[in-house]
Amino acid sequence: FAGERVAKVIARAGLGSRRDAETWIEEGRVAVNGEVLTSAALNVLADDKITVDGKLLPRRERTRLWLYHKPRGLVTTEKDPEGRPTVFENLDPSLPRVMSVGRLDINTEGLLLLTNDGGLARQLELPKTGWLRRYRVRAFGETDQVQLDKLFEGLTVDGVDYGRIEARLDKEQGSNSWLTLGLREGKNREVKNVLGSIGLEVNRLIRVSYGPFQLGDLAEGAVEEVKTRVLMDQL
Ligand code: URA
Repeated sequence: FAGERVAKVIARAGLGSRRDAETWIEEGRVAVNGEVLTSAALNVLADDKITVDGKLLPRRERTRLWLYHKPRGLVTTEKDPEGRPTVFENLDPSLPRVMSVGRLDINTEGLLLLTNDGGLARQLELPKTGWLRRYRVRAFGETDQVQLDKLFEGLTVDGVDYGRIEARLDKEQGSNSWLTLGLREGKNREVKNVLGSIGLEVNRLIRVSYGPFQLGDLAEGAVEEVKTRVLMDQL
């Protein structure tokens, strides 16, 4: 069959996951060219009109991905209930509507992936993607080999398993240490939690890579589109 599964197209439009879309189809909430779908097995073509709850899906655009150098002080959320400045309010206005792949804490800097494709965003942020997230960290406190070994052996903090963590001490600077950490889990506040558990308090946190993507020398606040067709096809 030519075309693509309806659920996949709905997920790509950012309405929900593929599973969500399959549920909506089962519930009779999805129609193609005016006919209510009865099976998720149907394929659709680019000019088919898909509706969910009677609302037309936005026109399909090709999937695009950007690297973004998040500055400190911005929250990674569409609208902050506390009114703090957000990533999305501060993006270059020439960008289309995008979402982020996961989040960085307000005081974390560095690489955040942005995409116009909700399905891709969810896929890339799953821990099971298993991508290494690498961070440069400045932490208050002395660092020794015993601590680094603990990270490498794998840590569970407050019942959350962070797995094995690559860690390297880059330099000591006054009462701070600069470390490079590599984690594969993508859990909330993971760097702060694991370093906190071995007595190091994070006071600067910069994500320098996410899977195959590198922050490189991208300027703070800037975005750069990932153009490599081959790379995009692997995702
Ligand atoms: N770990 C943290 O503690 N914070 C982040 O923003 C990312 C990873």
